[in-house]
Amino acid sequence: MSKDYYEILGVSKDASQEEIRRAFRRLAKQYHPDRNPDDPTAEAKFKEINEAYEVLSDPAKRSNYDAYGNPDGPFGAGGGGSYTGSGPFTGGGPFTGRDFGDFGFPFGDIFSSFEEMFTGGARRRANTGPVRGRDLEVSLEITLEEAFSGVDKDITINRVESCSRCNGTGAEPGTSPITCPTCNGAGQVRTTVNTMLGTMTTVKTCPRCGGTGEIIDTPCSACRGAGETTRTRTVTVTIPPGADSGLHLRLAGQGDAGRRGGPPGDLYVVVFVKPHSMFERQGDDLILDRTISFPLAALGGTITIPTLDGEAELNVPAGTQPGAVLRLRGKGMPKLRYKSRGDLMVRINIRVPTRLSPEERELLMKLSRLQGETVGDNRSFFQRLRDAAGGNRDR
Ligand SMILES: [Zn+2]
Ligand SMILES: [Zn+2]
Repeated sequence: MSKDYYEILGVSKDASQEEIRRAFRRLAKQYHPDRNPDDPTAEAKFKEINEAYEVLSDPAKRSNYDAYGNPDGPFGAGGGGSYTGSGPFTGGGPFTGRDFGDFGFPFGDIFSSFEEMFTGGARRRANTGPVRGRDLEVSLEITLEEAFSGVDKDITINRVESCSRCNGTGAEPGTSPITCPTCNGAGQVRTTVNTMLGTMTTVKTCPRCGGTGEIIDTPCSACRGAGETTRTRTVTVTIPPGADSGLHLRLAGQGDAGRRGGPPGDLYVVVFVKPHSMFERQGDDLILDRTISFPLAALGGTITIPTLDGEAELNVPAGTQPGAVLRLRGKGMPKLRYKSRGDLMVRINIRVPTRLSPEERELLMKLSRLQGETVGDNRSFFQRLRDAAGGNRDR
């Protein structure tokens, strides 16, 4: 049975690529042999972490691994045969991609060597050049009132910053990195293998120095050689009036620090507007439910309604029906990037009285008779009897 790569990286089976990458970065740093010179198990652990990451970070290998417990698919020998992209779930059946027939040995190895021969130089530069810092994302919950008026919010983030003690070099002040003894400063290591097609030279990024050609002999005491530290920072973000859920605000340069002179990443603040007890939001419009009396609906009139910036008068036309939506222009949410505002839509419900005074009852009976209806006295025989005997007729 093969190793549980998910367990090695400490992630769940449905972890995202980002989670896997993060877990790998953290563990690789922790178990890097350079940082654990006295721990003989660290190197084995480091290799194991690398192996797990190599599989889980490659969607094709990962789906094979999930399905068969083997990154090379159901037929993979596990000995480095690299049928990349040829798993049953990547289309084209199990024998497409790099399989060229019945040669009986893994072509994948040779081809990946070719690739590395041609791209080794580029990889080396990528490993040593400036790297932009990672973007960060945080979500921020605000109220509808805050979304209405706009607000400045302090948010607390954890971000990677360049170590101030060693200026990001990772070397204790007063010392400097030394030439990597594994690659003699080249940043690459070459291995020669004999294959059926002849001698192949593989160029790989030096595992000891990661391609920089230098290692740190005396690590900085503040960051233990990493050159960077995670710090908790409070950043103020300005929420513009009209912000809605899902709005991404970019704070340039507030993400993780870059490496080797690279620029910092950005911080994205994702806004979430909490539901309001009274107003329902629909884009820039707000919806408000109001219940009015039957006479007001029939005769028309004016009612006072709440808005997010004080009370307003709403004109109810005569003959307003239940469910009618009355629009108050310009009383909704501010529109992002515009001066104008959405509307306030008042959804009308009509109250049917449940308790009538004798006079009200008389008036309604009269109205009903005028409209030619036979109004129901739907009290039961016993109720009528009881009422006639002097009971409360409103009951
Ligand atoms: Zn430092
Ligand atoms: Zn090296």
